[in-house]
Amino acid sequence: MYLRDILKQETLSLSFEVFPPKTDSSFDSVRTATEEIAKLLPSFMSVTYGAGGGTSRYTLEIARNIKQQYGIPTLAHLTCVSSTKETVAAKITELKEAGIQNVMALRGDLTPELEKSDRSGWAYRHAVDLVRELKESGSDFCIGGACYPEVHPESRNQKEDIRHLKEKVDAGCEFLTTQMFFDNNLLYNFLYKIREAGITVPVVAGIMPITNANQVERAVKLSGSFMPQRFKSLVDKFGPDPAAMKQAGIAYATDQIIDLFANNITNVHVYSMNKPDVAAAILHNLSEIVGK
Ligand code: FAD
Repeated sequence: MYLRDILKQETLSLSFEVFPPKTDSSFDSVRTATEEIAKLLPSFMSVTYGAGGGTSRYTLEIARNIKQQYGIPTLAHLTCVSSTKETVAAKITELKEAGIQNVMALRGDLTPELEKSDRSGWAYRHAVDLVRELKESGSDFCIGGACYPEVHPESRNQKEDIRHLKEKVDAGCEFLTTQMFFDNNLLYNFLYKIREAGITVPVVAGIMPITNANQVERAVKLSGSFMPQRFKSLVDKFGPDPAAMKQAGIAYATDQIIDLFANNITNVHVYSMNKPDVAAAILHNLSEIVGK
């Protein structure tokens, strides 16, 4: 099923994300976790693409398995940074052959090595280049793109970031998924600004449940997200107790999602990080809400 059809529905939808294993030996445990999440029957599941494409073969395998075994619509991520035209063309063919209908077109992060390298010969500089390539492939992929309520770290300012986002949408992105955020007001302000800039596609709000204290530093480093005092207090108080921190983190994410739904944000994507128990707990907390 195409995400373009799911996301335009007025019912409240919840989706989950998984990431492929980093090594061959962890493939089975990731597959089991993925299947447990699929059994919760989310609106769709996304499968990330390993930074630099290292574990890319698993993205396709996991996405195909979720779709074929569990009938859950899947969204396969694909990055293009430092890729050749030939590699990307081969990936697009594989996606088509696997029957993947939805693709998240990403640039990928610039690792320190990539930052230092000579970019003059790169075939793809930005995600928009990949969006165009997917459109030109002749397949009817429903293409998504990433967006940043708190501005992408490489952008000089929000105006510039939104101008590039508009280019990505005009090139063929049919929906956008946000970077994680811990203060819903940041999303509401962002939505106001992008709608004003003429971006009308559905925006899926990305929520990251922080279930252990170590995750906090990683998440902030990765996303540059603002941590509200309310959230910091929770981590200070419960961080040292793993079970308490998990419960508090799930409650905080649930609270964010309820507020989003109450404010007519109908699509929420949970960065469930291969944790079926966390996905199940959030879904349980929203059992009378999701699908309404
Ligand atoms: P772009 O859209 O290319 O934007 C990157 C920067 O370039 C922005 O500052 C933008 O304003 C600027 N820009 C865009 N177009 C132009 C232009 N024409 N000229 C000048 N500047 C321009 N990473 C992975 O490796 N694998 C994943 O699976 C993955 N999934 C993600 C999912 C989501 C929802 C999000 C939010 C991020 C994900 N990432 C993933 C991380 C992502 O790859 C990084 O955030 C990366 O730094 C930017 O990717 P992008 O697709 O947003 O890039």
